[in-house]
Amino acid sequence: GVETNTGITSKKNNNEILTLQKSHAPLIDAHMRRINYLRISITDRCNLKCLYCVPGQPVSRIPHASILTYEEILKLARIGTRLGITKIRVTGGEPLVRKDCIDFISRLTRINGLKDISLTTNGLLLSQYLKPLGDAGISRLNISLDTLDRKKYMAITGSDAFDRVWAGIMEAIDMGFSPVKINVVVMRGVNDDELGGLADLSRTYPVHVRFIELMPFGNARTGLAAPMLQDEIMDKILQSGDLAPIARNELDGPAKKFGFKGAPGEIGIISPVSHHFCKTCNRLRLTADGRIRMCLLSEESMDIRTPLRAGDGDEELAEIILSAVSQKPFIRRLDAENRMGRTMSAIGG
Ligand code: SAM
Repeated sequence: GVETNTGITSKKNNNEILTLQKSHAPLIDAHMRRINYLRISITDRCNLKCLYCVPGQPVSRIPHASILTYEEILKLARIGTRLGITKIRVTGGEPLVRKDCIDFISRLTRINGLKDISLTTNGLLLSQYLKPLGDAGISRLNISLDTLDRKKYMAITGSDAFDRVWAGIMEAIDMGFSPVKINVVVMRGVNDDELGGLADLSRTYPVHVRFIELMPFGNARTGLAAPMLQDEIMDKILQSGDLAPIARNELDGPAKKFGFKGAPGEIGIISPVSHHFCKTCNRLRLTADGRIRMCLLSEESMDIRTPLRAGDGDEELAEIILSAVSQKPFIRRLDAENRMGRTMSAIGG
């Protein structure tokens, strides 16, 4: 028991305090990393077939009944937030293809305690969803765009949708979404001749252009023999002008940030292959089929859907999240030999 202010030991008080402590315990893993970032994949479906993401064969889809309902996701998000999650990213698959995603997002953004909610999208449906997204409380957008060339866009994604995505990006900027980040996966021999041009977007628009090293996932069909890494990417961008480092803020992820002098936008480099950021990893992932994935680069995950559907209460579900955090691997290296089985579309990038 604990001492009450009357000096009498109270069992009831003790239990209440323990429950409270538990419910406010920050998620700290075995390596003293504070886990405050949850990436939620709301679907494995996508309206593109990017050559670095989905395999060449038809994608095996998660059966509908195995996909968490929005209600289930919200319940887990609330429990996670109570445990110390402050930042959530909604991703997929393509999150905007899931029915009623806006209603879900507006409920997600209303969860108390969340400071930062963002969305990653390929931008195909962006134009029609921008207004509703803003109304639902989203201001931070990551849009994937690997090329400024319409034909190349089609070759990379299988869809002649460059113009639509571009229009969506322009509208997002006009409507005041901020930051608008553009994710570029660098592929040798595919878009490495465009890195300067893509970086130049940050001179014209208030966008953050983020160059991402290609990760050897699944059956990715390009450039795996010699992925283009950070130093080489930097060299290419520097051909377009001098870059100065930009200080990082609290909401920044693992990107190293730079800017051209006087530019309204920024450049970021994300180097999961050459410079893993495991030591500062603060993430958990919730897959569309209800598994908590502790590390993007490890196949290990924990099933939280089964206990959730069996009617486990918040405390039991919180225990599963705590247990997942305690099992988070420390350092996982990614290189051409260490290929991952599941693709990003299945894990939630
Ligand atoms: N459909 C949305 C989109 O396209 O942004 C969200 C999901 S997508 C899996 C998230 C991000 O992962 C995208 O920016 C995509 O380019 C990136 N991605 C997918 N496969 C990748 C790989 N093998 N290496 C690096 N980034 C990858």
